[in-house]
Amino acid sequence: MTTKDTHITMLHGAGGTVMHDLVKNYIVKYFAGAAPNIAEVPLEAMDDAAVVNDIVFKSDSHAVKPIFFPGGDIGRIAISGTVNDIAVLGAEPIALACGFVLEEGLLFSEFERILTSMRQACTEAGVNIVTGDTKVVEKGALGGCVMNVSGMGKRNPALEHNIAVIKQYRKDFAGRWMLDSNLKAGDKILVSGTLGDHGIAVLSAQEGLKFGSDIKSDVKPLNHMIQNLIGTVGGAVAMKDATRGGLADALHEFCEKSKLGILIHEDKIPIREDVRTACEMLGLDPLEIGNEGKIIIGAVPEKAEEILSFLKNTPEGKDAQIIGEVTAEFGGVAMQTAVGGKRIIARPIGDPVPRIC
Ligand code: MG
Repeated sequence: MTTKDTHITMLHGAGGTVMHDLVKNYIVKYFAGAAPNIAEVPLEAMDDAAVVNDIVFKSDSHAVKPIFFPGGDIGRIAISGTVNDIAVLGAEPIALACGFVLEEGLLFSEFERILTSMRQACTEAGVNIVTGDTKVVEKGALGGCVMNVSGMGKRNPALEHNIAVIKQYRKDFAGRWMLDSNLKAGDKILVSGTLGDHGIAVLSAQEGLKFGSDIKSDVKPLNHMIQNLIGTVGGAVAMKDATRGGLADALHEFCEKSKLGILIHEDKIPIREDVRTACEMLGLDPLEIGNEGKIIIGAVPEKAEEILSFLKNTPEGKDAQIIGEVTAEFGGVAMQTAVGGKRIIARPIGDPVPRIC
Protein backbone atom coordinates (compact mmCIF):
# COMPACT_ATOMS: atom_id res chain seq x y z
CA MET A 1 0.00 0.00 0.00
CA THR A 2 1.42 3.39 -0.96
CA THR A 3 0.71 6.87 0.41
CA LYS A 4 -1.67 7.49 -2.47
CA ASP A 5 -3.92 4.67 -1.20
CA THR A 6 -4.18 6.10 2.33
CA HIS A 7 -3.68 9.87 1.96
CA ILE A 8 -4.52 12.62 -0.49
CA THR A 9 -1.37 13.48 -2.47
CA MET A 10 -0.60 16.22 -4.99
CA LEU A 11 -1.27 13.70 -7.80
CA HIS A 12 -4.93 13.53 -6.73
CA GLY A 13 -5.31 17.08 -8.08
CA ALA A 14 -3.30 16.64 -11.26
CA GLY A 15 -5.98 15.69 -13.77
CA GLY A 16 -4.85 12.19 -14.84
CA THR A 17 -5.88 8.65 -13.90
CA VAL A 18 -5.19 9.19 -10.17
CA MET A 19 -7.54 12.19 -10.02
CA HIS A 20 -10.20 10.50 -12.16
CA ASP A 21 -10.14 7.52 -9.78
CA LEU A 22 -10.53 9.87 -6.80
CA VAL A 23 -13.55 11.54 -8.41
CA LYS A 24 -15.13 8.24 -9.45
CA ASN A 25 -14.40 6.18 -6.33
CA TYR A 26 -15.10 8.87 -3.73
CA ILE A 27 -16.95 11.94 -5.02
CA VAL A 28 -19.32 10.27 -7.48
CA LYS A 29 -19.74 7.27 -5.15
CA TYR A 30 -20.96 9.46 -2.28
CA PHE A 31 -22.89 12.15 -4.19
CA ALA A 32 -24.54 10.39 -7.16
CA GLY A 33 -28.08 9.29 -6.41
CA ALA A 34 -28.32 11.00 -3.00
CA ALA A 35 -31.73 12.25 -4.19
CA PRO A 36 -33.85 11.35 -7.26
CA ASN A 37 -31.91 12.38 -10.38
CA ILE A 38 -33.37 15.23 -12.46
CA ALA A 39 -30.16 16.02 -14.40
CA GLU A 40 -30.03 15.34 -18.15
CA VAL A 41 -26.22 15.23 -17.91
CA PRO A 42 -25.59 14.15 -14.28
CA LEU A 43 -22.51 14.09 -12.03
CA GLU A 44 -21.67 10.53 -13.03
CA ALA A 45 -21.29 11.54 -16.70
CA MET A 46 -18.14 13.37 -15.46
CA ASP A 47 -18.32 15.72 -18.44
CA ASP A 48 -17.04 19.33 -18.48
CA ALA A 49 -20.32 20.52 -16.90
CA ALA A 50 -23.74 19.16 -15.91
CA VAL A 51 -27.14 19.90 -17.48
CA VAL A 52 -30.26 20.38 -15.33
CA ASN A 53 -33.54 21.75 -16.73
CA ASP A 54 -31.71 22.87 -19.90
CA ILE A 55 -29.28 24.93 -17.81
CA VAL A 56 -25.58 24.03 -18.08
CA PHE A 57 -24.08 24.19 -14.59
CA LYS A 58 -20.41 24.14 -13.60
CA SER A 59 -18.19 24.67 -10.55
CA ASP A 60 -14.42 24.98 -10.64
CA SER A 61 -11.88 25.76 -7.91
CA HIS A 62 -8.53 27.37 -8.58
CA ALA A 63 -5.29 27.02 -6.64
CA VAL A 64 -2.66 27.93 -9.23
CA LYS A 65 0.83 28.55 -7.83
CA PRO A 66 2.07 31.27 -8.13
CA ILE A 67 -1.05 33.46 -8.34
CA PHE A 68 0.62 35.62 -11.03
CA PHE A 69 2.46 34.04 -14.00
CA PRO A 70 3.42 35.06 -17.56
CA GLY A 71 0.24 35.78 -19.50
CA GLY A 72 -2.26 35.55 -16.64
CA ASP A 73 -3.17 35.11 -13.00
CA ILE A 74 -5.48 33.08 -10.79
CA GLY A 75 -8.46 35.37 -11.43
CA ARG A 76 -8.25 35.16 -15.22
CA ILE A 77 -8.01 31.36 -15.05
CA ALA A 78 -10.96 31.12 -12.68
CA ILE A 79 -13.28 33.07 -14.99
CA SER A 80 -11.99 31.49 -18.21
CA GLY A 81 -12.05 27.93 -16.84
CA THR A 82 -15.69 28.05 -15.82
CA VAL A 83 -16.81 29.97 -18.93
CA ASN A 84 -15.00 27.48 -21.19
CA ASP A 85 -16.41 24.41 -19.44
CA ILE A 86 -19.92 25.80 -19.97
CA ALA A 87 -19.20 26.82 -23.57
CA VAL A 88 -17.80 23.43 -24.67
CA LEU A 89 -21.17 21.77 -24.03
CA GLY A 90 -22.67 24.31 -26.45
CA ALA A 91 -24.19 26.79 -23.99
CA GLU A 92 -23.66 30.52 -23.50
CA PRO A 93 -22.70 31.53 -19.93
CA ILE A 94 -25.33 33.77 -18.30
CA ALA A 95 -24.12 34.24 -14.69
CA LEU A 96 -21.15 33.39 -12.46
CA ALA A 97 -20.64 33.01 -8.70
CA CYS A 98 -17.28 33.57 -7.03
CA GLY A 99 -16.10 32.30 -3.63
CA PHE A 100 -12.75 33.63 -2.39
CA VAL A 101 -10.57 32.08 0.31
CA LEU A 102 -7.99 34.78 1.04
CA GLU A 103 -4.85 34.16 3.03
CA GLU A 104 -3.89 36.44 5.89
CA GLY A 105 -1.15 38.75 4.64
CA LEU A 106 -2.31 39.00 1.00
CA LEU A 107 -1.54 42.53 -0.18
CA PHE A 108 -4.50 44.71 -1.16
CA SER A 109 -2.49 45.70 -4.22
CA GLU A 110 -2.32 42.02 -5.29
CA PHE A 111 -6.00 41.45 -4.49
CA GLU A 112 -6.91 44.45 -6.64
CA ARG A 113 -4.71 43.20 -9.46
CA ILE A 114 -6.63 39.89 -9.38
CA LEU A 115 -10.02 41.63 -9.22
CA THR A 116 -9.10 43.88 -12.16
CA SER A 117 -8.09 40.83 -14.17
CA MET A 118 -11.34 39.02 -13.31
CA ARG A 119 -13.37 42.06 -14.35
CA GLN A 120 -11.49 42.16 -17.66
CA ALA A 121 -12.12 38.43 -18.28
CA CYS A 122 -15.84 38.90 -17.42
CA THR A 123 -16.04 41.76 -19.93
CA GLU A 124 -14.34 39.63 -22.59
CA ALA A 125 -16.72 36.73 -21.94
CA GLY A 126 -19.77 39.02 -21.63
CA VAL A 127 -20.93 37.60 -18.28
CA ASN A 128 -21.23 39.00 -14.75
CA ILE A 129 -20.40 37.63 -11.31
CA VAL A 130 -23.77 37.90 -9.56
CA THR A 131 -23.15 36.27 -6.18
CA GLY A 132 -20.31 34.95 -4.06
CA ASP A 133 -18.57 34.68 -0.74
CA THR A 134 -15.32 35.72 0.95
CA LYS A 135 -13.43 33.87 3.69
CA VAL A 136 -10.01 34.51 5.24
CA VAL A 137 -7.66 31.86 6.66
CA GLU A 138 -4.41 32.08 8.64
CA LYS A 139 -1.16 32.30 6.72
CA GLY A 140 -0.20 28.86 5.37
CA ALA A 141 0.22 27.22 2.01
CA LEU A 142 -2.43 28.97 -0.11
CA GLY A 143 0.13 31.24 -1.76
CA GLY A 144 -2.11 34.30 -1.30
CA CYS A 145 -5.57 33.05 -2.20
CA VAL A 146 -7.63 30.28 -3.76
CA MET A 147 -11.07 30.71 -5.27
CA ASN A 148 -14.08 28.94 -6.69
CA VAL A 149 -16.02 30.19 -9.67
CA SER A 150 -19.30 28.50 -10.57
CA GLY A 151 -21.55 29.38 -13.45
CA MET A 152 -24.70 28.76 -15.43
CA GLY A 153 -25.19 28.72 -19.16
CA LYS A 154 -28.23 28.56 -21.38
CA ARG A 155 -29.08 26.81 -24.61
CA ASN A 156 -29.23 29.13 -27.60
CA PRO A 157 -29.75 29.23 -31.41
CA ALA A 158 -26.07 28.51 -32.12
CA LEU A 159 -26.40 25.04 -30.58
CA GLU A 160 -29.64 24.32 -32.52
CA HIS A 161 -27.85 25.26 -35.75
CA ASN A 162 -24.91 23.01 -34.83
CA ILE A 163 -27.20 20.04 -34.24
CA ALA A 164 -29.18 20.67 -37.46
CA VAL A 165 -25.88 20.56 -39.41
CA ILE A 166 -24.81 17.30 -37.70
CA LYS A 167 -28.17 15.73 -38.62
CA GLN A 168 -27.64 16.51 -42.32
CA TYR A 169 -24.82 13.94 -42.24
CA ARG A 170 -25.89 11.72 -39.35
CA LYS A 171 -29.64 11.17 -39.46
CA ASP A 172 -29.74 9.16 -36.23
CA PHE A 173 -27.85 11.76 -34.15
CA ALA A 174 -29.78 12.13 -30.87
CA GLY A 175 -27.36 14.30 -28.84
CA ARG A 176 -28.69 17.59 -27.41
CA TRP A 177 -25.29 18.90 -26.19
CA MET A 178 -21.67 18.52 -27.29
CA LEU A 179 -20.77 15.61 -25.00
CA ASP A 180 -17.61 13.47 -24.82
CA SER A 181 -19.76 10.40 -25.54
CA ASN A 182 -21.09 11.65 -28.93
CA LEU A 183 -18.19 10.57 -31.17
CA LYS A 184 -18.57 8.03 -33.99
CA ALA A 185 -15.89 6.25 -36.05
CA GLY A 186 -14.76 8.51 -38.88
CA ASP A 187 -15.22 11.79 -36.97
CA LYS A 188 -12.28 14.18 -37.27
CA ILE A 189 -10.40 15.53 -34.25
CA LEU A 190 -9.28 19.17 -34.28
CA VAL A 191 -7.28 21.24 -31.81
CA SER A 192 -7.78 25.02 -31.70
CA GLY A 193 -4.10 25.96 -31.28
CA THR A 194 -0.67 25.28 -29.84
CA LEU A 195 -0.37 22.92 -26.86
CA GLY A 196 1.52 23.23 -23.58
CA ASP A 197 1.94 27.04 -23.46
CA HIS A 198 0.04 27.46 -20.18
CA GLY A 199 1.72 24.64 -18.24
CA ILE A 200 5.21 25.71 -19.29
CA ALA A 201 4.47 29.40 -18.45
CA VAL A 202 3.29 28.42 -14.94
CA LEU A 203 6.23 26.03 -14.47
CA SER A 204 8.67 28.79 -15.45
CA ALA A 205 7.10 31.05 -12.78
CA GLN A 206 7.15 28.25 -10.16
CA GLU A 207 10.78 27.35 -10.72
CA GLY A 208 12.16 30.73 -11.81
CA LEU A 209 13.20 29.16 -15.12
CA LYS A 210 13.85 31.11 -18.30
CA PHE A 211 13.57 29.32 -21.61
CA GLY A 212 15.20 32.03 -23.70
CA SER A 213 11.88 33.31 -24.98
CA ASP A 214 8.50 34.59 -23.86
CA ILE A 215 6.30 31.58 -23.24
CA LYS A 216 2.99 32.99 -22.04
CA SER A 217 -0.15 31.30 -20.81
CA ASP A 218 -2.95 31.00 -23.37
CA VAL A 219 -5.61 31.56 -20.67
CA LYS A 220 -8.73 33.18 -22.14
CA PRO A 221 -12.51 32.83 -22.39
CA LEU A 222 -13.38 31.00 -25.62
CA ASN A 223 -17.18 31.24 -25.47
CA HIS A 224 -17.55 33.78 -28.30
CA MET A 225 -15.31 31.75 -30.62
CA ILE A 226 -17.25 28.57 -29.79
CA GLN A 227 -20.68 30.19 -30.22
CA ASN A 228 -19.64 31.70 -33.57
CA LEU A 229 -18.20 28.38 -34.72
CA ILE A 230 -21.27 26.29 -33.93
CA GLY A 231 -23.69 29.05 -34.95
CA THR A 232 -22.20 29.69 -38.41
CA VAL A 233 -20.39 26.47 -39.44
CA GLY A 234 -21.71 23.69 -37.20
CA GLY A 235 -21.01 19.97 -37.24
CA ALA A 236 -19.14 19.78 -33.91
CA VAL A 237 -20.37 16.67 -32.07
CA ALA A 238 -18.03 16.78 -29.04
CA MET A 239 -15.86 19.46 -27.49
CA LYS A 240 -13.49 19.73 -24.51
CA ASP A 241 -11.02 22.21 -23.10
CA ALA A 242 -7.62 20.51 -22.82
CA THR A 243 -6.72 21.52 -19.25
CA ARG A 244 -4.89 19.35 -16.66
CA GLY A 245 -3.39 16.28 -18.32
CA GLY A 246 -3.39 18.10 -21.65
CA LEU A 247 -4.37 16.69 -25.04
CA ALA A 248 -3.57 13.11 -23.95
CA ASP A 249 -6.04 13.14 -21.07
CA ALA A 250 -8.77 14.92 -23.06
CA LEU A 251 -8.54 12.39 -25.90
CA HIS A 252 -8.71 9.49 -23.45
CA GLU A 253 -11.90 11.01 -21.99
CA PHE A 254 -13.38 11.08 -25.50
CA CYS A 255 -12.33 7.46 -26.14
CA GLU A 256 -13.54 6.07 -22.84
CA LYS A 257 -16.99 7.70 -23.04
CA SER A 258 -17.51 7.08 -26.76
CA LYS A 259 -16.07 3.51 -26.50
CA LEU A 260 -13.85 4.08 -29.55
CA GLY A 261 -10.22 4.80 -30.38
CA ILE A 262 -8.49 7.93 -31.68
CA LEU A 263 -5.51 8.03 -34.05
CA ILE A 264 -3.57 11.30 -34.08
CA HIS A 265 -0.77 12.38 -36.40
CA GLU A 266 2.37 13.76 -34.76
CA ASP A 267 3.25 16.07 -37.67
CA LYS A 268 -0.15 17.81 -37.39
CA ILE A 269 0.01 18.61 -33.65
CA PRO A 270 0.71 22.33 -33.17
CA ILE A 271 3.43 22.96 -30.55
CA ARG A 272 5.52 26.15 -30.33
CA GLU A 273 9.21 25.51 -30.94
CA ASP A 274 10.19 27.11 -27.59
CA VAL A 275 7.60 24.99 -25.72
CA ARG A 276 8.91 21.85 -27.44
CA THR A 277 12.50 22.77 -26.47
CA ALA A 278 11.48 23.51 -22.85
CA CYS A 279 9.71 20.13 -22.67
CA GLU A 280 12.76 18.32 -24.05
CA MET A 281 15.04 20.05 -21.52
CA LEU A 282 12.76 19.08 -18.64
CA GLY A 283 11.84 15.61 -19.88
CA LEU A 284 8.13 16.49 -20.15
CA ASP A 285 5.62 15.37 -22.76
CA PRO A 286 3.85 18.42 -24.27
CA LEU A 287 0.78 16.24 -24.94
CA GLU A 288 0.30 15.81 -21.16
CA ILE A 289 0.69 19.49 -20.24
CA GLY A 290 -2.33 21.62 -19.40
CA ASN A 291 -3.79 24.43 -21.50
CA GLU A 292 -6.29 27.11 -20.50
CA GLY A 293 -7.24 28.56 -23.87
CA LYS A 294 -7.44 25.56 -26.20
CA ILE A 295 -10.27 23.24 -27.16
CA ILE A 296 -10.37 19.79 -28.73
CA ILE A 297 -13.24 19.27 -31.17
CA GLY A 298 -14.74 16.07 -32.56
CA ALA A 299 -16.53 16.92 -35.82
CA VAL A 300 -18.44 15.12 -38.55
CA PRO A 301 -15.81 14.54 -41.29
CA GLU A 302 -17.79 16.49 -43.90
CA LYS A 303 -17.45 19.74 -41.89
CA ALA A 304 -13.90 19.34 -40.54
CA GLU A 305 -12.15 21.46 -43.20
CA GLU A 306 -14.74 24.23 -42.89
CA ILE A 307 -14.38 24.23 -39.10
CA LEU A 308 -10.60 24.43 -39.52
CA SER A 309 -10.72 27.41 -41.85
CA PHE A 310 -13.22 29.16 -39.54
CA LEU A 311 -10.87 28.65 -36.57
CA LYS A 312 -7.82 29.82 -38.49
CA ASN A 313 -9.58 33.14 -39.13
CA THR A 314 -10.01 33.84 -35.39
CA PRO A 315 -7.27 35.22 -33.10
CA GLU A 316 -7.86 32.34 -30.63
CA GLY A 317 -7.76 29.63 -33.30
CA LYS A 318 -5.16 30.84 -35.77
CA ASP A 319 -2.88 27.81 -35.12
CA ALA A 320 -5.72 25.25 -35.28
CA GLN A 321 -5.17 21.89 -36.97
CA ILE A 322 -7.03 18.70 -37.84
CA ILE A 323 -4.89 16.28 -35.83
CA GLY A 324 -6.59 12.92 -36.20
CA GLU A 325 -9.70 10.79 -36.48
CA VAL A 326 -11.92 8.49 -34.47
CA THR A 327 -11.66 4.78 -35.21
CA ALA A 328 -13.39 1.55 -34.26
CA GLU A 329 -10.23 -0.47 -35.04
CA PHE A 330 -8.77 -0.11 -31.54
CA GLY A 331 -9.52 1.46 -28.17
CA GLY A 332 -7.53 4.28 -26.54
CA VAL A 333 -5.21 6.75 -28.22
CA ALA A 334 -2.45 6.03 -30.73
CA MET A 335 -0.16 8.37 -32.61
CA GLN A 336 1.28 8.03 -36.10
CA THR A 337 4.79 9.37 -35.48
CA ALA A 338 6.60 11.77 -37.78
CA VAL A 339 9.07 9.00 -38.72
CA GLY A 340 6.31 6.60 -39.75
CA GLY A 341 5.80 4.35 -36.71
CA LYS A 342 2.81 4.07 -34.43
CA ARG A 343 2.98 4.77 -30.70
CA ILE A 344 0.43 4.21 -27.95
CA ILE A 345 -0.43 7.40 -26.05
CA ALA A 346 -1.09 6.20 -22.50
CA ARG A 347 -3.48 8.08 -20.28
CA PRO A 348 -1.32 10.33 -18.05
CA ILE A 349 -1.34 9.45 -14.33
CA GLY A 350 -1.34 13.20 -13.70
CA ASP A 351 -0.25 16.47 -15.23
CA PRO A 352 3.55 16.66 -14.81
CA VAL A 353 3.28 20.27 -13.61
CA PRO A 354 1.58 20.65 -10.15
CA ARG A 355 -0.96 23.41 -9.34
CA ILE A 356 -1.31 24.78 -12.87
CA CYS A 357 -4.90 25.96 -12.35
MG1 MG B 1 -13.13 20.92 -19.07
